[in-house]
Amino acid sequence: MEIESLSRTFGDRLAIRIERLAVVRGETLVIMGASGSGKSTLLRVVAGLLRPDTGYVRLHGELLGPDCPRELRRRLGYVIQEGGLFPHLTARGNVTLLVRHLGWESSRIRARLDELVALTRFPPDALDRWPRRLSGGQRQRVSLMRALMHDPDLLLLDEPLGALDPLIRAELGRDLRRIFRALGKAVIFVTHDLAEARAFADRLVLVHEGRVVQIGTVRDLEERPATPFVTEFLGAQTFREGVA
Ligand code: ADP
Ligand code: MG
Repeated sequence: MEIESLSRTFGDRLAIRIERLAVVRGETLVIMGASGSGKSTLLRVVAGLLRPDTGYVRLHGELLGPDCPRELRRRLGYVIQEGGLFPHLTARGNVTLLVRHLGWESSRIRARLDELVALTRFPPDALDRWPRRLSGGQRQRVSLMRALMHDPDLLLLDEPLGALDPLIRAELGRDLRRIFRALGKAVIFVTHDLAEARAFADRLVLVHEGRVVQIGTVRDLEERPATPFVTEFLGAQTFREGVA
């Protein structure tokens, strides 16, 4: 996926601007920034849910966006912030919604679901529960299975560990790392948390008030900060890690 000269405003307020950014197969790119820095807006633009004011997003060289062919949009999987499961569909219903719409045979759906249940370590007997009867960690696993069901090339995750208790977070975090390594997809992972960036990022993009402050490995940002803000942001986060 490639981004070029992308910007999106709401009214006269810049939500996100990115000059150039690419993510390749097998790479996890982490977008990190405080609340309100434009991370979710960026993912929504990449997912084609929101039109950019300027610029382009390309996947496999083709333009992505609200008007692009659906086949191209289906090369994406998207876990929205807070999971976004349909409350009136069971876990199974949520995961299989798109592929049933695409007309997959039920045997193919069952086989794919078996794979994903094993991959995400989701308890199979919970597949027929409503989202409100699942734990927070289970709901996130359902959101992840839903995003992976049709085997997308690019996976977008918006604070997938954000709303979880610390122990569940650590457990799902370990599973996610294993899953990313196993699948070798391109992943864009949004977080406000440096510990998650350390755990997941091949490369890190630090954003502040809609603008990219620095792109690099976590180590690059620590050892060669582009601005004093980088040090300040990482310092505040490292203090939090210390307290935790
Ligand atoms: P983050 O995900 O980093 O917390 P967001 O992308 O949600 O940040 O928001 C970035 C900025 O854009 C914020 O100032 C937010 O209030 C604003 N914003 C986001 N979505 C909308 C919207 N649909 N309408 C108006 N303003 C929005
Ligand atoms: Mg957000």
